[in-house]
Amino acid sequence: MGAANVIPSFDLKRNYARVEEEIKDAVSRVLSSAQFILGPEVSEFEREAALYLEANRAVSCASGTDALVLALMAAGVKPGDEVITTPFSFFATASCIARIGAKPVFVDVEPDSYNISMEAARSAITPRTKAFIPVHLFGQMCELERIAGDLKDRGIVLAEDCAQAFGAHRRVGGRMVRAGTWGELGCFSFFPTKNLGAYGDAGMVSCSSDSLAERVLRLRVHGAASTYMHDEVGINSRLDAIQAAILRVRLRHIETWTEERREAARRYGLLFAEAGLGDAIAEPSETDGNRHTYHQYVIRAKNRDELQKHLAEKGVAARVYYPLPLHLQPCFSSLGYKKGGFPVSERLCDEVLALPMFPELSAEEQERVVRCIAEFYGR
Ligand SMILES: *Cc1c(COP(=O)(O)O)cnc(C)c1O
Repeated sequence: MGAANVIPSFDLKRNYARVEEEIKDAVSRVLSSAQFILGPEVSEFEREAALYLEANRAVSCASGTDALVLALMAAGVKPGDEVITTPFSFFATASCIARIGAKPVFVDVEPDSYNISMEAARSAITPRTKAFIPVHLFGQMCELERIAGDLKDRGIVLAEDCAQAFGAHRRVGGRMVRAGTWGELGCFSFFPTKNLGAYGDAGMVSCSSDSLAERVLRLRVHGAASTYMHDEVGINSRLDAIQAAILRVRLRHIETWTEERREAARRYGLLFAEAGLGDAIAEPSETDGNRHTYHQYVIRAKNRDELQKHLAEKGVAARVYYPLPLHLQPCFSSLGYKKGGFPVSERLCDEVLALPMFPELSAEEQERVVRCIAEFYGR
């Protein structure tokens, strides 16, 4: 099968073709300005992103991983503090905790939404718990209303990992809450394949208060309050102006692209229903009140590994997010978690499969994906 016939997991080239002229203008503007790190493009992007997210403030940085580290530093998380999070996520969700010497405390996830269980998180709170990092996994928000009050009562900082959920929101009792604005801090990644992607590494922290924003602003430039004056030790994590200019262009299109992803998700649902695959696969579920942004369209499948191999042979790229839960990663072995500790996460690692999902995915391609899946199960 020729490369032209492969249906990829994502296709940044098709997306670039839609914005090529705007991007070239924006990059050229930065090159002429010769202002390459921080500066007006960066602060304009931060202002526009905060407006879109309905966040009090937004402070950009060099990556989503750094956004998490900066958020925990700004929240005052110290070595030895406990931070509760999910074992079913990208590595950076937990590594940021370890990086600052704090202790990741894992709790299991829900089988339908794949998101961290709020009840399990509440049970894991101890006097040493300093922060909670829920991940809005694959583009769908957690049901934070089920824990937000407890966190507030106990002075635990809520730092949302929104790396996969730019533009997601959740309606609770008539109020609409956007990802990254529920907690004190929200951490975003603009890695190229994320829904709002830059053309290199980039990230951002949304902040509920000016004081937190000022602290993140300081921490991203070595903790300097003014040039060469350091009140605390920070890191070097600045956004460059070319990425900011590119992100400003792409932010103008994010609503269209999100709606296209949602349309593709609806179409997968219809195609699966027609194919009668209900006993072989489970589609991703959208929790009541949520606007899922479908960063990934993740099904659970019987004989997942064989299905993935079959799809690859037929020219359909499908990926496993994530093959090994974080509590079983070798680097966290000293935390003492064992296999069997989080059965839902561990089962998901054996069953999940992300199907091709990107705004430009065509109906014909989706029909082919579902036909190949039906064929595998002998339908
Ligand atoms: C991508 C991602 C990150 C890290 O973002 P980078 O920009 O790659 O550093 C953190 N958490 C989750 C859930 C992610 O998907």
